[in-house]
Amino acid sequence: MTDNDQSFAEASRVIPGGVNSPVRAYRSVGGAPRFMVSGRGPYITDVEGHEYVDLVCSWGPLLLGHAHPAVVDAVHAAVSRGLSFGASTPAETELAEAVIARLSPVAADGQPVIEQLRLVSTGTEATMTAIRLARGVTGRSLIVKFAGHYHGHSDGLLADAGSGLATLALPASAGVPAEIAAQTLVLPYNDRAAVTQAFETYGPRIAAVIVEAAAANMGVVAPQPGFNAFLASVAHAAGALLIVDEVLTGFRVSPAGWLGLEPIDADIVTFGKVIGGGMPLAALGARRSVMEYLAPLGPVYQAGTLSGNPVAVAAGLATLQAADADVYARVDAVARTIADAASDALSATGVAHAVSRAGSLFSIQFQNELAVDYAGVQRQEAFRYGPFFHAMLDAGVSLPPSAYEAWFVSAAHDDAAVARVLDALPAAARAAAAA
Ligand code: PMP
Repeated sequence: MTDNDQSFAEASRVIPGGVNSPVRAYRSVGGAPRFMVSGRGPYITDVEGHEYVDLVCSWGPLLLGHAHPAVVDAVHAAVSRGLSFGASTPAETELAEAVIARLSPVAADGQPVIEQLRLVSTGTEATMTAIRLARGVTGRSLIVKFAGHYHGHSDGLLADAGSGLATLALPASAGVPAEIAAQTLVLPYNDRAAVTQAFETYGPRIAAVIVEAAAANMGVVAPQPGFNAFLASVAHAAGALLIVDEVLTGFRVSPAGWLGLEPIDADIVTFGKVIGGGMPLAALGARRSVMEYLAPLGPVYQAGTLSGNPVAVAAGLATLQAADADVYARVDAVARTIADAASDALSATGVAHAVSRAGSLFSIQFQNELAVDYAGVQRQEAFRYGPFFHAMLDAGVSLPPSAYEAWFVSAAHDDAAVARVLDALPAAARAAAAA
């Protein structure tokens, strides 16, 4: 038994499935998940000492790569002052100001999209709170979401489409009460007619539409031009709010996230991942008039023992401070180089595929026609991904262990790390072709 297999066997005795988040399991690609012990720059090292170029980057937070010196120093300094106070700290204000400043060019109708920010610990909390806030503001219950979009694991967002278009949703997980799932409408992404029909049927009962700024949890699926703006106008016409979920895209695809690439008249924006630089930190922001509905000012309750934790805030602030124009230019360039090389390698072996991109986010769909929604994404030859993934892993490149995830790069991915990825691709493409 290898050391890794032993780590997995031991973990599996005391942790369900041996993992603390199911996306880490190698369920769809097979084999034992790699147990990691350290990361530096673009590399991550497992319990057996194998070093991989990391194209997971903790599922998004590590825009600067592993253990970036400025982030590590900021965390050390914060730790030396104490781990948690359960009281406000000046650094929380600094982080809120940094986020507001980054978003300030994204005015809609001459008004800033975000005037205030509330810090929480996970993206799940951010979207859960955003929904409660939207319900509190509107006095309505129903939520519209899109199939294949992930907003964390709160009950109402673990919902699958019912039969027929504008029908109330069904639980997507055991343990979610049908009554709660039925407060959600799940629509096909990029489908304006479905949105129109849902609002025609339920408009006065809809509190909010929640949408990933660009979908990246079914692989990457970009919003079609104008789709996000359409959502804003339909929601607003019906007196509903638009929640733009930037947990994954925020501060990753541009200094102001997806909103920096495509200004959207969002009412509430959620952040996570990069905002915490690898520590548990997330946030929701909106105009003051909306944020003032939150406790202690308003009637919408939300709280957290570790909200705005000083160590997490230090990591987030250091990450945002270091994420300058050069960082975004590097991430864009690395993403383009790897995506193009993966496509070339797959073309050379005749594997049907399309590169799906949204800003610097990308993934490969194993089909020639680029899908624009979840049903389309599921038509791909996903069985080719497992052999592709394992060939990459054997060559020292760690990809997300599922065809339905984005590939993440960082500004620390230097030419040597990129070269290792490019070298690994031809054999992986052959493995995909042979599947
Ligand atoms: N929203 C989006 C768009 C996400 O990608 C994720 C996590 N992948 C979440 C929300 C939930 O964040 P967390 O895992 O921190 O709860």
